[in-house]
Amino acid sequence: MIPTRFTETSVGDMFVVRNAGNLIPHSQHFVDEMTSCEPAGLELSCIINDIKHVIVCGHSDCKAMNLLYKLKSEEESSLEQRRISPLKSWLCTHGKSSLNKFLEVKENLEKPILFSAETPQRKFVAYIDPENKFCIEDKLSQVNTLQQLQNIASYGMLKKRLERHDLHIHALWFDIYTGDIYYFSRRAKRFLIIDESSYEIILAEVRRYYS
Ligand SMILES: [Zn+2]
Repeated sequence: MIPTRFTETSVGDMFVVRNAGNLIPHSQHFVDEMTSCEPAGLELSCIINDIKHVIVCGHSDCKAMNLLYKLKSEEESSLEQRRISPLKSWLCTHGKSSLNKFLEVKENLEKPILFSAETPQRKFVAYIDPENKFCIEDKLSQVNTLQQLQNIASYGMLKKRLERHDLHIHALWFDIYTGDIYYFSRRAKRFLIIDESSYEIILAEVRRYYS
């Protein structure tokens, strides 16, 4: 599924960075001039092109998330494994914060999970899959999508924009089997399906808080 298709945007409307697991490395992973393409993409889009909305898109049955869940086993995530698998190495380095957060709350998913967003003070809570429709890896995928908001906000280059509400971060989650697209509503504290019955509520929230 191509983001430009489900968002009905055309050429020039969006700058898209795709990677395994929709992960944005936290800034703490980079020292000196070492970096990766995700923060470079953030600078290009949010600073140079002055784009005001960043959207993290996750999805169901994500093979990267399915593998991340397996990496809870020490054997699967051993140094030896990471050296022969770039995907395992990438997920261990940049997906572990999502995995650890998820494993902490996995047994009590009816309770809300706390995330931070644009600034460390702007926190929000999330109920993950309250209707219990999705498998464990999909629940992890939703947590991981929300965890990236914090990672995006970790970049000093975005700090002023985020503090002044000139830059907003959103999360979408896509069910590849039903075609349903979910928007994470901080007001509803959960992912809401975007459909005829919800779009006005979602639009009102976006207009009120993010424009
Ligand atoms: Zn995926």
